[in-house]
Amino acid sequence: SAAAADRSVRPPLPVLGRDVTVPLVTGGEVAYAALDYAASAPALQRVWDDVAAYAPYYGSVHRGAGYLSQLSTELFENARGTVAEFLDCRPTDQVVFTRSTTDSLNLLARALPAGCEVFVFETEHHAALLPWRRAKVTYLDAPRSPRQAVETLERALADRDPHGPALVCVTGASNVTGELWPVRELAAAAHAHGARIVLDAAQLAPHHPVSVRDLDVDWVAFSGHKLYAPFGSGVLAGRADWLREAEPYLAGGGASRRVARRADGGVDVEWHEGAARHEAGSPNVIGAHAIASACRALTEAGWETLVARERHLLERVRAGLAGIPQVRVLSLFGDDAPRVGVLSFVVDGWSSSHLAAALSAEYGIGVRDGLFCAHPLVRALLGGDPHTRGECGAPEAAPGEEPLHAVRVSFGAGTPEEHLDRFVTAVGELVRHGAKWTYRTEGGRCVP
Ligand code: PMP
Repeated sequence: SAAAADRSVRPPLPVLGRDVTVPLVTGGEVAYAALDYAASAPALQRVWDDVAAYAPYYGSVHRGAGYLSQLSTELFENARGTVAEFLDCRPTDQVVFTRSTTDSLNLLARALPAGCEVFVFETEHHAALLPWRRAKVTYLDAPRSPRQAVETLERALADRDPHGPALVCVTGASNVTGELWPVRELAAAAHAHGARIVLDAAQLAPHHPVSVRDLDVDWVAFSGHKLYAPFGSGVLAGRADWLREAEPYLAGGGASRRVARRADGGVDVEWHEGAARHEAGSPNVIGAHAIASACRALTEAGWETLVARERHLLERVRAGLAGIPQVRVLSLFGDDAPRVGVLSFVVDGWSSSHLAAALSAEYGIGVRDGLFCAHPLVRALLGGDPHTRGECGAPEAAPGEEPLHAVRVSFGAGTPEEHLDRFVTAVGELVRHGAKWTYRTEGGRCVP
């Protein structure tokens, strides 16, 4: 129907930056097409309004006797409840506010019980790949299908001592290919072998409903700035026991319940047991409030609507790119694998940095080129593809530079269809006719 068609064209959730125009090297200005949601999504207008409405009233949380301090404390604690509901947590789960997904996973890494083994696919974002290095880590080879992912994990877990603690860390949706991982099946495999599992939902939560109960994962981590809230706040939600038993992530006020000098001159500390144990210092109450606001906005817009529209946009981009024979879309699990609105590709005969620079300078389109903090994955996907070598179209990379790059386009609930159409048209024009401008490398970036 016309109404349905209109809904697919108009973004369901208005975001900031809709009126931003940028200059083009070729002259004139154009409305900026932000197609780098996977790095940071623009904040929802609604989130901004909620934050602005609260801003005059904010005070430091916890223990303040003043009215505004009490209000902030209530808002901060209510935000936990909203997040727990958004993630469909178990009643005993705990929501800890952190700075980001990176922070959340590092916090969990510090809370691993003694002797804990960690299992992680080499394809993870570095935030999920690297925090575990103080533990015994098994890095699993890139699987080529969701089924192979489950089999690979099962094989690795079968060899371990089932009585010792173990943790599996897995992404819900890849920040490179956008592909969905079989989280429920991986969780079942982990639990069958006495291991726990943490879900890196940085790319999943903004695009897809996440149910801790349904997926049966032990923890979930995500970032506010990818979920249409501003920078600086994130979440680690899940089981309380390991966190309660661990040393506080940060030592300081807020985490400590009682501190006293000892007779021998030292200091004794009694730490809090709840979420506060890992939230030392004055917490980011505005950030938590913004995340809660974004959670409510997404829920109210309705996941069915959001997912259906994003699928429509994804199909449109894929069909557009499929019409350009020089484009190769990167995929671990194959073309039919379900994905979120994140897609990386390389173009025959083009350096990815050159293409991304021309999209920005000549079309006002903001995408990203590089290895997307997932170096082993991008290398596995590109497999030394010679067409993607070099900087600014040079056939070889300069000494010391990463030789392989891809271009990533990513979008979501605030993306107008027109931005994606402009993107497909621009890639087609650049590939057919070349860039209008020339580009060179400066400070590691490709510039006109
Ligand atoms: N995991 C994934 C899958 C990501 O895409 C990202 C961000 N690109 C992160 C973790 C890290 O998120 P942040 O930078 O907000 O800590």
